[in-house]
Amino acid sequence: MVDFNSPDHVALATAISACTMLKSLQQGRKFHDIAMKYGLYSHILVSNSLLKMYIDCERIQDAREVFGRMVSKNIISWTEMIRGNVKKGRFNEGLKLLRHMNGDGITPDSRSVSTVLPTWARMAAHKHGKDIHAYLLRNRIDLNITLQNAVMDMYVKSGFIELASRVFTGMKERDVVSWTVMTIGYSLHGQGELAVESFQKMEEELRIEIDQFPEAAALLACNAALMVDKGRLYFDRIKEPKVGHYALMVSLLARAGLFDEARIFIEEQGIERQAEVLKALLDGCRIHQQGKLGKQVINQLCNLEPLNADNYILLSNWYANNDKWDKVDEIQQSIRDMGLKPKKAYSWIELKNKVHVFGTGDVSHPRSERIYWELKCLMNEMEGKGYKPITAFNLHDVDEERECIQIGHSELLAISFGLISTQTGTTIRVTKNLNVCCSCHDFSKFISKMVNREIVLKDPNRFHHFKNGSCSCRDFW
Ligand SMILES: [Zn+2]
Ligand SMILES: [Zn+2]
Repeated sequence: MVDFNSPDHVALATAISACTMLKSLQQGRKFHDIAMKYGLYSHILVSNSLLKMYIDCERIQDAREVFGRMVSKNIISWTEMIRGNVKKGRFNEGLKLLRHMNGDGITPDSRSVSTVLPTWARMAAHKHGKDIHAYLLRNRIDLNITLQNAVMDMYVKSGFIELASRVFTGMKERDVVSWTVMTIGYSLHGQGELAVESFQKMEEELRIEIDQFPEAAALLACNAALMVDKGRLYFDRIKEPKVGHYALMVSLLARAGLFDEARIFIEEQGIERQAEVLKALLDGCRIHQQGKLGKQVINQLCNLEPLNADNYILLSNWYANNDKWDKVDEIQQSIRDMGLKPKKAYSWIELKNKVHVFGTGDVSHPRSERIYWELKCLMNEMEGKGYKPITAFNLHDVDEERECIQIGHSELLAISFGLISTQTGTTIRVTKNLNVCCSCHDFSKFISKMVNREIVLKDPNRFHHFKNGSCSCRDFW
């Protein structure tokens, strides 16, 4: 029990950490007052825990005040402050702090940098990730194995597989994480063969018992390469498969069009009631246009997760595709009745340190007119070459796109904005929060050829590299 009549700094820091875990800002503030009252504020243990508490409770301004008042700061204080800024999307601020920290005589260590790098990667703020890497190299900060893995992971997640691979090649020493990051990276970027090769090399070089984590990477690699036999072998080696492993195996069979085998596998393993498994099966149905089976799977999903709006959207799109509009209305009504909120689609592109976000049919961007005009011209050009947009919404997971003209789809708006705002030849990098639809995928392939640019589109499951009229996913997504 903490005695708050005469608290000491350890007890106080512990209490503040508990508030952080409970995200209790109110209680945390009380301890802040106690710290002031008993003169414990200047103790670094206390001020660091206050800093963390404010950051985790989303109070960056309070955190900044604590930070500003600290008499002495250690690496933990700096790291927390950088993390807080990056978390709020203030990348430049984070980078500036990293520089100050170095100027203050505190060398960033692998832990401090690797806590912020993944956040940078997740935000897909690739420029900042690159800046950090350049900064580390310039300042000769020891790039130990943990840090190199984090840099690689950052490059993989922000779309630069070649740079990740370059870091990997330059490593003197590699551990399971390094190999796994690379295997997953190749898989996400549609380089399945390289992914499988990377996994095999890891086994040869490390000669260790592979555990669950890399096993999932092996299955992901086989999925990307569509190597069914190898996938079966890897799966059989897993001693205690988890749902994720089953889902990857089902995904592999379904993507390869082996629906009978997938069905038998699901029955034998007794995994019919796993949403993750059913979604994997559904992906295969979408790729191979298996509308009938797809509908069965969606019905199963609706039964399993009756409060998940995504499932009803799939169902509604399926009916729309089959011209059953009364059913579409019925489903839309029940979505409203149940108060469910379908996810809105949006895409974003980062240009000159600014992130531009587009929704479906968005006209709010200052350059909207030009953006639509560009797409209209490209579309005309394509139609002139005999291209017909595919309107199949069968098994697509976005609601509002069906009602919208195709050139209003968010990913196309972001791509178009990229085209008109960057120099000829520059790669366009766009992220979308939901799956790309069939027609935008097709259109993007076409655009890449017409304008002779590479377009990298990240969706929740993979990266599509559109280049010279084709996509790295080989249309298997
Ligand atoms: Zn679309
Ligand atoms: Zn693709």
